[in-house]
Amino acid sequence: YTVGGTGYLQNPQEIGHGYEAPGTKVKRPKGKTLTWHFKAPMVHDFMWAADPDYIHDTLIMEDGPALHFFYKNKPEILENWKNLQPKTAEAMRFFSENVGPYPYEQYSVVQGGDGGMEYAMSTLITGERSFGSLVGVMVHELAHSWFQHILATNEAKHEWMDEGFTSFISDLCMNTIMNENKANPFEGSYNGYYSLVLSGKEQPQSTHADRYEVNAAYGRAAYSKGAVFLSQLGYVIGQDKLMATLKKYYADFKFKHPTPNDIKRTAEKVSGMELDWYLTDWTQTTNTIDYGIRTVSESKSGTHILLERIGLMPMPLDILVVYNDGSQETFYIPLQMMRGEKENPYGQVKRTVLPDWTWANPEYSFELSKSLSEVKAVVIDPSQLMADIDINNNIWLADSQ
Ligand SMILES: [Zn+2]
Repeated sequence: YTVGGTGYLQNPQEIGHGYEAPGTKVKRPKGKTLTWHFKAPMVHDFMWAADPDYIHDTLIMEDGPALHFFYKNKPEILENWKNLQPKTAEAMRFFSENVGPYPYEQYSVVQGGDGGMEYAMSTLITGERSFGSLVGVMVHELAHSWFQHILATNEAKHEWMDEGFTSFISDLCMNTIMNENKANPFEGSYNGYYSLVLSGKEQPQSTHADRYEVNAAYGRAAYSKGAVFLSQLGYVIGQDKLMATLKKYYADFKFKHPTPNDIKRTAEKVSGMELDWYLTDWTQTTNTIDYGIRTVSESKSGTHILLERIGLMPMPLDILVVYNDGSQETFYIPLQMMRGEKENPYGQVKRTVLPDWTWANPEYSFELSKSLSEVKAVVIDPSQLMADIDINNNIWLADSQ
């Protein structure tokens, strides 16, 4: 058999099978059986897989660990499994740069299991897939090295921190290494969350993973709504602050067992904002976000815009105004209980910071200095990173009045 899995092989000179350094002469000990001796420091989980027909390839990264690939010698999968190898190195580099350095000396991608499953220093994935799907499952399981094995959250109690954060960072990674160039790489997660809300089966993310009424409600709460927790946090505190939050979270909590309060406190320290409200509403309730533009009307000084909060969950708002001459400006309405403001996410467009919205108030209004006849469109959150469950009332168009 060829064996692959978690840990560092201690006796490659006795084993061979592609583990030995190039040029090393393998000397098997006498006797009928061969003992594979692996050591795995700093792990809370392990896996091994054995197959007499495994091909074993090794890719030693210059700036990272040794990557091992174990797969069956089937003509129809060989090309994909060869091309998977440099993509695994790219993903390893992406996560190490964007979250924190991979701390182990090896990672093994092993064909086996019944889908994809993460283990320390390794994954078992099914092998007969399209190339995009093969890379996708590798990227997801490799991302769990950070959000499960290094940042070892209790995934039964806080499933959204495990599958959700993994989904978030793997969506970002896929967008980069597969050149997907999606404007919103998390679109699938948002759609998963919206369909959960529509299903009427949503339970709070703080529900124990084993206590959901239906599996789809667990899946969407953990994977989709969990990914949106982070992408939407980027909307609240700013994208740069979100990425800085992930790095600090890794630095402060690696090889520990972080809880929801830890990611919230990290984001608070990085952004200087209070985020209790965000953690509470998003993870402990099924409150939803729905803001709308109720009216845009002529006023003495220009144009009056009346906004409404329909959903129970409050959020800060970015508002884009487009004029008939093609010019644009943005307005930012901080949420009072954040006690802070993010930087202008649309740096090239003029931004006006308006007075805070006190969440209990269902309405909010402000004035444009230009007259109504000059206004072409008003848009709440053009990024669509705020998970507003009804975006029809987020856009006001002069043409359709
Ligand atoms: Zn996963």
